[in-house]
Amino acid sequence: MSKIRLQNGEELPLEMHKVKIVQKLELKSVDQRLRAIEEAGNNTFLLKNRDVFLDMLTDSGVNAMSNLQQAAMLTADDCYAGSESFYRLEAELKKVFKKKYFLPAHQGRACEHLLSRVLVKEGDIIPMNYHFTTTKAHIRLRGGDILEIPVDEALKPESDCLFKGNIDIVKLKKAFEEFGKRIPFVRLEAGTNLIGGQPISIQNIKETHALCKKYGVPLMLDTSLLQDNLYFMKMREESCKDKAIIDICNEVAANVDIIYFSARKFGCAKGGGMCLDDDRIFEQLRELVPLFEGFLTYGGMSDKEMEAIAVGIREVSDFDVISQGPQFIKYMVEELRKEGVPVVTPPGGLGCHVDAKAFLSHLKDEDFQAASLSSALYIVSGIRGMERGTMAEERNPDGTECYAAIELLRLALPRRVFTMSQIKYAIDRITWLYKNRELVGGLRWKEEPRILRFFFGKLEPVDDWQKKLAEKFKKDFPYGF
Ligand SMILES: *Cc1c(COP(=O)(O)O)cnc(C)c1O
Repeated sequence: MSKIRLQNGEELPLEMHKVKIVQKLELKSVDQRLRAIEEAGNNTFLLKNRDVFLDMLTDSGVNAMSNLQQAAMLTADDCYAGSESFYRLEAELKKVFKKKYFLPAHQGRACEHLLSRVLVKEGDIIPMNYHFTTTKAHIRLRGGDILEIPVDEALKPESDCLFKGNIDIVKLKKAFEEFGKRIPFVRLEAGTNLIGGQPISIQNIKETHALCKKYGVPLMLDTSLLQDNLYFMKMREESCKDKAIIDICNEVAANVDIIYFSARKFGCAKGGGMCLDDDRIFEQLRELVPLFEGFLTYGGMSDKEMEAIAVGIREVSDFDVISQGPQFIKYMVEELRKEGVPVVTPPGGLGCHVDAKAFLSHLKDEDFQAASLSSALYIVSGIRGMERGTMAEERNPDGTECYAAIELLRLALPRRVFTMSQIKYAIDRITWLYKNRELVGGLRWKEEPRILRFFFGKLEPVDDWQKKLAEKFKKDFPYGF
């Protein structure tokens, strides 16, 4: 068991691994951090990693690898065509997904690019539980659009709904009736990223699949965050309680037609791929892989990474391995809640999500609450989170600002990377910031790119609130750390 009880009754998630390689970290002073965030235009994507203490930006490509993954990398069969590394990865994917074909790509968004080229045309509508940034951008680039129809609970930051990632089946039925042939496929996302790593249930996948079959369209599943989602299915869904993870995984795959993933998350290495049975779609995708990614037996990935992914995917079947992330996140969420900090509940996968709108309720939509909070947290802790709010949206077609339905500060916990004391440090500094939240002010655009503006857009504070926040910090922590 990876969870134990201490003598005083406290329950602690326990690391079921030991640290064998470490990377030294540096904690810069609050003054240095103030300068760094100014230079970065208050966009944590633009911070230099050397200025970051705990990097909670993302779980993409930064999960800790196991010793077995590292060892497998040495066995890579480096060649342009027909690499054994590819066949080992393909064999592993056959075990978990049982699909006829596997096509490699260099990462998740590359799969979205190719799938959109093959499946999306002008005027198409893609119903989904929720979008992911790059998914939406690729669909729009093809002239299609998305239709987000999650269950109502999905967008309530605080909820006790165990599967906030579910799609609303009634709304999906209505969409089929209204849009008919304009729907080329339905997309579901496991471990729904942008609403807080919230899971989808196997029951919901099955119901969606039945409906898709009735209307004759394929069901696509983005399994980038499936690892956490499998954990939640086992923990929260009665029908999965006694099943092995691999069996749940097989059952998920049997109820979808097209699977794609970012192996930067699913597989804990760097790459991606698509798995499917349909001959015709496969043939169309096969023409695009060498054109955009690389030959069919590597698709932009290095042979070493393919070896690591193969082992990483095998390790997803180990309950101890997949428990660590969600258990640490649950600990962090619950400790923050005890201090009154508004966080997304129930705890999901991927990371701890702070509700920026509630945290900074004295600010308005146009103040970019999530961006302000991520900037403020970096200043007071050296922790780099990610804005998941209005900055991550795109403007409306008429040019007006599109305010996000929920403004979140995402604090990703890359799998098996952080220790309990680092989590406790994060909790302490977030709590300090919450007590001093009145000092946090708004941000406004300084440089606004046209698409994916959260990656390189820059913001500036509306007044000198950041300096005042740093002054208060130094008063409470005289060493400046
Ligand atoms: C990260 C992610 C992607 C994109 O994957 P990359 O490898 O970063 O390109 C797509 N979908 C979901 C759900 C993700 O979390």
